[in-house]
Amino acid sequence: MFDAHCHLQDERFDACRDAVVAAALTAGVSGVCCCGSSVSDWQKVRRLSAERGVRSVELRAVPRVLHATPALHTTAAALRTPLSTFRILPAFGVHPWYAGNLPANWLAQLEELLVQYPAAPVGEIGLDGVRDNPPRDLQRQVLQAQLELAVRLHRPVVCHGARAWGEWLETLRPFVPHLPGFVAHAFGGSEEILREIVSMGGFVSFAGNVCNPAAKRVRAAAAATPAERLLIETDAPDLLPGVRASAVQWFSGSAVDDLASRVPHPALPIPQELNHPGNLPLVANAVAKLRRAATEEIASVTEANARRVYGVQDIEGN
Ligand SMILES: [Zn+2]
Repeated sequence: MFDAHCHLQDERFDACRDAVVAAALTAGVSGVCCCGSSVSDWQKVRRLSAERGVRSVELRAVPRVLHATPALHTTAAALRTPLSTFRILPAFGVHPWYAGNLPANWLAQLEELLVQYPAAPVGEIGLDGVRDNPPRDLQRQVLQAQLELAVRLHRPVVCHGARAWGEWLETLRPFVPHLPGFVAHAFGGSEEILREIVSMGGFVSFAGNVCNPAAKRVRAAAAATPAERLLIETDAPDLLPGVRASAVQWFSGSAVDDLASRVPHPALPIPQELNHPGNLPLVANAVAKLRRAATEEIASVTEANARRVYGVQDIEGN
C-alpha cells in the first residue's frame, strides 16, 4: 500500500518516528508521499527522505502482530511486498494556512529544492475554506505561484481544498492541461466537483474520515470515484480514522465502525491520539466496503495509481 499524503516531518512524530515507520511496514505500507507545508519544514522533509527514502529499514524489533489480526490478513498481497523497504517520496509546497508571512524569497527556495529533487511533487498546496486567515486572495496568489512553478518544472501537484473545493478547482483549471497530474487530497467535495476532477484527469484521495458513517458526502465520493483515479492516504498525524471518535474509542473497538476492533493497538510508542501511516488499512478497508470490493484489490489499485500520478516506479524496492 502507498499512503498518498501524510506529514511524517510533523514534530509530533519526533519522539516516535522509528516506531511509525515500523508500524507502517507492519501494516503493509511500503511508501508514503510526505508533504511539506511551509518553508519552515521543507528541510526536515528533505532530510527524512534522504535518510529513509533510499534506505532499507530493519524490522527485527517489530512486535509480532503481522499475522495477528483479520484486518492485516485482508492485505495479504500488500504484505508480500518486501517488508524491509520503506520509501518516503518528498513533496514541497506551501499549505494555504501558511500563505501569510512568507519570506520574500520563498518561491526561489521552493524552486531550488524542487530542482534538487526531480521526483518531488509540489504539495501540499491549495485553498482552505475552514479558516479565514490568511485571506483567500493571498491563499490564491500563493497557490497560483506554485501552480506556475509546477507547470514550469513539470511536476504533479498535491492539493488541499477543504470547504473550498469549487474555488480551488476554478483556480486550478487553467493550469491542468499543462500539469503532469494533480491530486485532490482528503477529498470532501460534491458529486459535481468529483465528476469535474475526474473529467480533467485528476486523482482523488480519501483519508480516515471515510471510515465515519456520518461523513456521507465523503463516503459517496469514495464509492463513485473511478478505480483508476482512486488514492488512499492518512494525512497523518491528523485525520485519525473516524475523526469524531477519540483514538481510545477506536482502538478499544467501541467507535462508529467495527473496523476499529480489527486493528491492533500497536505495541509501539506511538501516542494513541496520533494518526500514522500504519492506519492506512483502515482507510483501505472502509473504501473497499463502500465499493463492495476486496481490501486487497483497493490496496493494489491505489498503489498502482500512486505510482502513476507521482511517477514513482520503484515504491516497493530501491
Ligand atoms: Zn495534509
